[in-house]
Amino acid sequence: MYDVIISGAGPAGSKCAEVIAKKGYKVALVERDASWRKPCGGAVSSRVFKYYPQLREKDFQKIHGINIYSADFHKLEYSWKGIREDSINVDRLEFDRILQNIAVDAGAEIFDKNLSYDFIINNGKKVGIKTKSGSGINEFHGKIIIVADGMSSKLAIKSGLRKKWKIDEIGLVKCAILEGETSLDCNFINIFFRPYIGYGWIFPLKDNRFNVGVGTWLEGNLNSNTNDLYYNFLREKEIRRLLHQNNYKEIWSASYPLPAQGVLGNSLFNDNLMIIGDAAGFVSPISGEGIHASIVSGFTAGSVASLALDNENISFKMLKEYKQNSNIKKIIKNFKMQSSLVNFFFENNGQNLSKMLELAENSSELREEVINMFLFNQAPSRDFLIKIK
Ligand SMILES: Cc1cc2nc3c(=O)[nH]c(=O)nc-3n(C[C@H](O)[C@H](O)[C@H](O)COP(=O)(O)OP(=O)(O)OC[C@H]3O[C@@H](n4cnc5c(N)ncnc54)[C@H](O)[C@@H]3O)c2cc1C
Repeated sequence: MYDVIISGAGPAGSKCAEVIAKKGYKVALVERDASWRKPCGGAVSSRVFKYYPQLREKDFQKIHGINIYSADFHKLEYSWKGIREDSINVDRLEFDRILQNIAVDAGAEIFDKNLSYDFIINNGKKVGIKTKSGSGINEFHGKIIIVADGMSSKLAIKSGLRKKWKIDEIGLVKCAILEGETSLDCNFINIFFRPYIGYGWIFPLKDNRFNVGVGTWLEGNLNSNTNDLYYNFLREKEIRRLLHQNNYKEIWSASYPLPAQGVLGNSLFNDNLMIIGDAAGFVSPISGEGIHASIVSGFTAGSVASLALDNENISFKMLKEYKQNSNIKKIIKNFKMQSSLVNFFFENNGQNLSKMLELAENSSELREEVINMFLFNQAPSRDFLIKIK
């Protein structure tokens, strides 16, 4: 019998397991396949160092700037060198393993190659989870259950807290890690907004590698094929300027969905159960960035679970603290604001975004607003929106 069972050892689950194990509670971290590389751009904000100071010492590509391009290639370049700490670009296989090891070092037990597929119910109460493994069905019993198994979580749906996402509520993305010579500035990430609802990116990695991807969002998904979008993106003139080689070595590639409507505030917890990370929608509706928010949700749920166990009270009322935490409230609020801007930006085939970046090229004031909005989650002013219109 465990104090806490966590399904999914991504950033959210690993952080949550670490926090609870550090408090001396018995934690089972159940993972489908720890050798899976999560499809992801791997851009990690320096805000994550607050939760993982160890990452500063790791040999990841350091980033101190961003180039943002509109669909017609107006460009905004911003460097935070000397102003803020460098962020990092990571290969998710290595990154997730580091976070899992930190959880295990804190005392969590990891059960790899266990696919969770249902709850164990006793007298109407969820008392654990069932998994399929190479040796058959396993059962993990625990007082608190935490669902951290990502975008395609079956447990999140079986919990009754939320429904399956529809195609026009998510993002659909294809990405790859390629290797070879480029004209990239290795300390800058590059974001390319598209004429449809979506964007592409090129993020430099160590060892002559880079992560490249493109995706659509919401109703942009309905008439799109991610493979076509990906190859069309690579053929764009501006992209070929940066990636001029004809044959890059493909190290890995994959397509994957992500939640695109922000946090599902009413679906975060129930009696002895919490949902964290992508499974609960902790992904920015504008940038698709979710690693930081997932870690914050894992940390918060872990702290709330530990407190509930200290108080021997694992009820709905006690777990409510998760949603009421100020950091979680802030994320929910920021994502709501971003969500409300998505349609505005992509109106008329992305023309508002093009106008915004064009205006920002010639006005330092507007440039600052764009940077504050994209990098620091600040809502744009009314004046700013009127100028774009
Ligand atoms: C293509 C793409 C690009 C992205 N780029 C970025 C980026 O550059 N920067 C950024 O910050 N965010 C990015 N994101 C978002 C980011 O990847 C996620 O927000 C983040 O990984 C969420 O962490 P998580 O732990 O909640 O879920 P995940 O990372 O998805 O981890 C879930 C874990 O659960 C396991 N699992 C799944 N099902 C089961 C099961 N049934 N039983 C047991 N285990 C299971 C999985 O194997 C995995 O280890 C991107 C997302 C996509 C799809």
